[in-house]
Amino acid sequence: MDLGLANKVAVVTGGSSGIGLATARLLLAEGARVAICGRNPERLSAAAKSLAAKPDALLAETCDVLDADAVNAFARKVTGWSGGRVDLLVNNAGQGRVSTFANTTDAQWREELELKFFSQVLPIRTFRPLLDGAPKPAIVAVNSLLSLQPEPHMVATSAARAGVQNLLKSLAAEFAPHIRVNSILLGLVDSGQWQRRFEARTDKAQTREQWFDALARDKHIPLQRLGVPDEPARAIVFLGSPAASYITGASLEVSGGVSRFI
Ligand code: NDP
Repeated sequence: MDLGLANKVAVVTGGSSGIGLATARLLLAEGARVAICGRNPERLSAAAKSLAAKPDALLAETCDVLDADAVNAFARKVTGWSGGRVDLLVNNAGQGRVSTFANTTDAQWREELELKFFSQVLPIRTFRPLLDGAPKPAIVAVNSLLSLQPEPHMVATSAARAGVQNLLKSLAAEFAPHIRVNSILLGLVDSGQWQRRFEARTDKAQTREQWFDALARDKHIPLQRLGVPDEPARAIVFLGSPAASYITGASLEVSGGVSRFI
């Protein structure tokens, strides 16, 4: 199947690690030109180097997606580099917060709500004029299964992700028929954030393999393992491609079957 991504222009927020980096790699392999961003310049330049893209196929810019001025500056750079067109926006930047209602402060609630909503709102608002100029544009948001199946130990993340899912449904209707808007709902994917949680484990005697196996067992994942970044990346690339031309307002679960609802 031809995904129709050759020579398309894609923007991937949080493209310097994990799922975003895997998405950028797949998009480049499909012949797309890709702009990635992240906050940490060293991580970003290491990611850019690892992508080993053809000259002019990759743009890597530092940008905090919660900073409107920085997102505007990133969009200006993308405009100069792409000639003012963006075919695909992948809103992936972010991380989860592990905390219960009892131990989440007001400041942490505000921080989490801001991260989840504004990591969508600012890039979508800023890149929309560039998407409008493309023939078959799409937005893919990386969201979590927590939006539909909340976890008390990630109370703020779960609530915020549910709101984002609701927002995306409104945008799919408002932006139709020109821009398609879809999301993926992740379970557990072995990426930067799980590596950080592994490094912070209490039982340092546990090997990486033992720790991740125990995690998959504890979470009752039917496929008995965490996902790897390429697995959600393939779903993102499909939903964002012209091959998904009749799909909008949809969400695709990429979780190894961990949801318990129908
Ligand atoms: P990683 O930590 O590997 O990657 C996160 C990426 O986002 C990095 O490139 C990071 O770079 C960037 N980033 C974070 N905050 C910002 C910001 N404010 N502005 C710009 N870039 C930012 O994690 P994943 O690949 O797992 O995460 C990708 C997305 O998937 C995240 O939104 C995460 O919440 C979500 N998710 C992941 C799950 C999982 O199990 N892995 C489960 C559910 C959701 P830098 O820090 O340099 O800015």
